[in-house]
Amino acid sequence: MASIPLSKDRGIDPHLCTCIRCGNVNDQALTMGVIMKAEDNHGASHFANRGGTRKHEQELAKHNIEIVTNWTEIKDSSEKIPMGLCKACEDEIALFEEELAKGGIFFKCKACDQAGMITGNTDLAKAVREQMDIPAPDECGIEFDSCDQHGVNSDG
Ligand SMILES: [Zn+2]
Ligand SMILES: [Zn+2]
Repeated sequence: MASIPLSKDRGIDPHLCTCIRCGNVNDQALTMGVIMKAEDNHGASHFANRGGTRKHEQELAKHNIEIVTNWTEIKDSSEKIPMGLCKACEDEIALFEEELAKGGIFFKCKACDQAGMITGNTDLAKAVREQMDIPAPDECGIEFDSCDQHGVNSDG
């Protein structure tokens, strides 16, 4: 059984987690024990349990990412830790994968930063896949320059 490294003064020291995809509080995850933080050579933050920093670095090395700062303990228990996916993102990704298999394509709008998926039964999705010669379920996507190209929600 894995052991949780306890903080001398803060016990199991639980931290709330945020979703690594959308940044909202991840209600599916809670960290316990001492959490360490360090930065990589791209300036991104990484988090690991105190006993797990070496393993974390080994994983990163496979992707040519290198930790360049010292691991420091997070002492502020109100600091949220980015970890895992929230339920909404998990559901959305599952939906995307399902739709991808049916020929759906991703879109991103440069004007409003909205991103999402165009379903595979639309002419647009079919035309883009044909033009780019990317058959389903391979990932395929387009970028819009303005919002009228993806339609603007009245409530958005
Ligand atoms: Zn999320
Ligand atoms: Zn837009």
